[in-house]
Amino acid sequence: LEQQLRQSERLDSLGQLAGGIAHDFNNILAVISGYADMLIDELGDSHPGQPDAVGIKQAAGRGAALTRQLLLFSRSEPSKSELLDLNAVASDMLRLLGRTLGEDIELGTALTPGLPPVVLDRGKFEQVVMNAVLNARAAMPSGGRLTISTGLEHDGGGADLVCLAVTDTGCGMTPDVLARAFEPFFTTKGRGSGTGLGLATAYGVITDAGGTITLESEPGRGTTLRVRLPAGAAAASGTGPSGPAGSTGPG
Ligand code: ADP
Repeated sequence: LEQQLRQSERLDSLGQLAGGIAHDFNNILAVISGYADMLIDELGDSHPGQPDAVGIKQAAGRGAALTRQLLLFSRSEPSKSELLDLNAVASDMLRLLGRTLGEDIELGTALTPGLPPVVLDRGKFEQVVMNAVLNARAAMPSGGRLTISTGLEHDGGGADLVCLAVTDTGCGMTPDVLARAFEPFFTTKGRGSGTGLGLATAYGVITDAGGTITLESEPGRGTTLRVRLPAGAAAASGTGPSGPAGSTGPG
């Protein structure tokens, strides 16, 4: 518990820093991207400098994707909490992913019908699932099976927990990687392809919502990312005054 607390304190200060930088940087990147567009137009297709201008445009795009990730990680955007059906989110996600994942990845589902809703920001949660799916795909360069499952569990006190898991049959993680996977900026992916913010962001989103997020992994066999969230009815009809949008997590 103490470790979790330290982790979230670290996330908070890192988040504030990252959020500030990301904001300013995003504006600069928009300018770079705009000038690159003009340059691409002005040079025309046959100019030898054209690929260079396109390169600038693409790099600015990658930078913008990173700053979006930083902004989400910094939690500077207020949460729009709503009652979510995780089965619906999973189905939407699968429909979207079916086309983008590639043929060598077999998609599976194991959805438990009739789950109670959870209270969550839909956009942020979709990012969490999307990141998990992209990690799963990256772990299966020569194909494999990706499964999204949902279910209902009960915590020690008998309260309902709604679960969503993303399982892959990929490379898995060594104990070292597993121990550090939620650390901000920890990545084993090469420069330019990993930010190391996906799981740290997911950790923030899920713990802010009162849930837990865990990884189970075995090298060579695969990985499961599991999210557990309190069933929403109680939280939604909460007795306390609902403050302004933002984190009202315990602590
Ligand atoms: P990134 O994907 O940008 O590296 P993440 O925070 O999402 O950042 O992941 C951190 C690291 O955790 C990854 O670089 C990878 O080493 C490991 N990881 C995450 N998900 C998986 C997975 N499904 N299978 C194997 N390794 C994973």
